[in-house]
Amino acid sequence: MEKLAALPTFPASPPAEEAAPREVSRGDFVHEAIKAGIREGVLTTGQRLRERDVAEWLGVSRTPVREAFRMLQAQGVLSQGRGDSLVVTTLSEDDMRQLYRIWADMEAISARYAAREASNADIERLQEVAARWDAAREPNELGRLNQDFHQAIQAAAHNRYLSRALDAVDDSLALLGLNTYTVPGRPAEAGREHVEIVRAIAARDEEAAYQAARVHIERAGVLRLSLFRQKSQN
Ligand SMILES: [Zn+2]
Repeated sequence: MEKLAALPTFPASPPAEEAAPREVSRGDFVHEAIKAGIREGVLTTGQRLRERDVAEWLGVSRTPVREAFRMLQAQGVLSQGRGDSLVVTTLSEDDMRQLYRIWADMEAISARYAAREASNADIERLQEVAARWDAAREPNELGRLNQDFHQAIQAAAHNRYLSRALDAVDDSLALLGLNTYTVPGRPAEAGREHVEIVRAIAARDEEAAYQAARVHIERAGVLRLSLFRQKSQN
């Protein structure tokens, strides 16, 4: 890259046209759709993704797809395949262990902050999301509800930097595909763990919230690891 002799003044000139917010939000839409596709098994790890196919799949132009691809590549969700193709990243067992270790720590901190910072509205939201659990059946439905639940904790923690870091972990978690709700008994068990977390946050018990969240993620990690091993044996 050529070096600049001197930095031009900022801003160099007023933007010629209004930036296209529609395209930007479409980029976000594509970004979220690809992550959801991976999470729910519509797209699989190792699969090659082409701009054209994704644009057609989602009914958008190639510009937002290109933008989403750039974001996903920077986040490690997509990686370079053969030639100039992009593929959905495949995580190793070691990646998975590292991911769950940091998630357990961060989720525990998030729950601790929530116990301290949550507004009454935050707590009501948590209770409301947790209460919807028992009516859900399908693994993907439970997966989405679980995301809502953990996002509600994140919102209740009121720390934007922690939030950003948790979002990055969540992006990588999408790469694990299949969630743990296919394991018999796990949906009910996870539901009880969620109730435990909410109870501790509502009671403003920071230590109990921290522990409950940690136990919940560590348990999910153990199950995920055994699913992962089963999958790689097949
Ligand atoms: Zn959960």
